[in-house]
Amino acid sequence: MLQLSKYSIGVGDRFAHQAAPQLRACMLAQDQGIDVIPVWNKSNREHMFIGSDPCSVRAAADAAIKQLGWSKPYHVDADHINLDTVDRFVVPSDFFTIDVAHFIGQPADTADVEAFLTRHGELIGKLDIAGIPEAFHTTRDSISRIAAKYFIAVREAGKIYHHIASRRGEGTFITEVSMDETDAPQSPPELLVILALIADEKIPIQTIAPKFTGRFNKGVDYVGDVARFAEEFESDIAVLAHAIKRYGLSANLKLSVHSGSDKFSIYSAIRRAYRKFDAGVHVKTAGTSWLEELIGLAEAGGDGLSLAKEVYTESYAHREELCQPYAAVIDIDYAKLPPPSQVARWSGEQYADALRHDPACPHFDEFDKNVRQLLHVGFKMAAKMGDRYLRILEQSEESVSRNVTHNLFARHLKPLFID
Ligand SMILES: [Zn+2]
Repeated sequence: MLQLSKYSIGVGDRFAHQAAPQLRACMLAQDQGIDVIPVWNKSNREHMFIGSDPCSVRAAADAAIKQLGWSKPYHVDADHINLDTVDRFVVPSDFFTIDVAHFIGQPADTADVEAFLTRHGELIGKLDIAGIPEAFHTTRDSISRIAAKYFIAVREAGKIYHHIASRRGEGTFITEVSMDETDAPQSPPELLVILALIADEKIPIQTIAPKFTGRFNKGVDYVGDVARFAEEFESDIAVLAHAIKRYGLSANLKLSVHSGSDKFSIYSAIRRAYRKFDAGVHVKTAGTSWLEELIGLAEAGGDGLSLAKEVYTESYAHREELCQPYAAVIDIDYAKLPPPSQVARWSGEQYADALRHDPACPHFDEFDKNVRQLLHVGFKMAAKMGDRYLRILEQSEESVSRNVTHNLFARHLKPLFID
């Protein structure tokens, strides 16, 4: 069975140009004695927006591995796929994030739910889970409601898993089930029921991405109660450990955090929690590299800076259509966005300061979260520029790759895995 290592980081970039700078960040972590395995992920949605093919992610990852001589594992994740979209990912990917959030709440057959309750009497009554201070008290009714809510979603995940396995062969890939793109967070008892359902479906998951409490807006920090998140995250890890033993799930099963990038204020809570339980963790933070690309372009000056300004001008002009698909995960105050005529007068440093999300930076008061969120979804404007964008990106390689590596290592890998 292809196994995912204990610590792993989901990276990626819109235009498949930053695999080597991202890998360099993992090598810096390795220099500090910590193995963090890179997983290049890109969702079907993102491929559609850019017009790219999943094979390009594999090609960029393989080239970076060869160029830098990385000898540890690495993976390519087909992020947020479903039965309709998985096929073109089957060959280039060895990690599949099966997204069944849309099936949550679809009505299940009463007989199926009854059979689940009969099979899983252990879920009813007092649930004592090692590592969680207070026992949960459940009833046949409460477990029945949870099972009914997730039954169809997990059955769908099973269909997708078995479809991939029939095409690739069992044991040749890593399976994640994601339920993060939904409205309500899943409580620890809900997570336990979901894991029992997954075990029944015989899906050998190695990571699971529940929806956590709080808001995970794109490219900006966590919005929510950090203490509450920390408590929930610890309970979720305890539930996973319990389910591994009780249901024979993969011993390396761990949580996957679809961070939406840059959730700095919860990184230390995540680190403390997985260390406390000696568990692993997978954190996806791919979107952050695209913004580092823009920062690198701005810092390069000349054509690079003009191009970065053009991306802003176009994103501003198309702001409503760009933001619409992300309405659930961005909060932009349109009235506070600087007009493009103002941005046109910025120096490279001013552009970088407005965009750079680094609370430790002396210019952090220049940071503009509205600009950052708009540009986060503005990659479609760069995609429209086609080769011209890529040519200037390549010309600006030095400042772009420096920013990509530094951001990933210092602001993500260090607080998550080293500090
Ligand atoms: Zn996600």
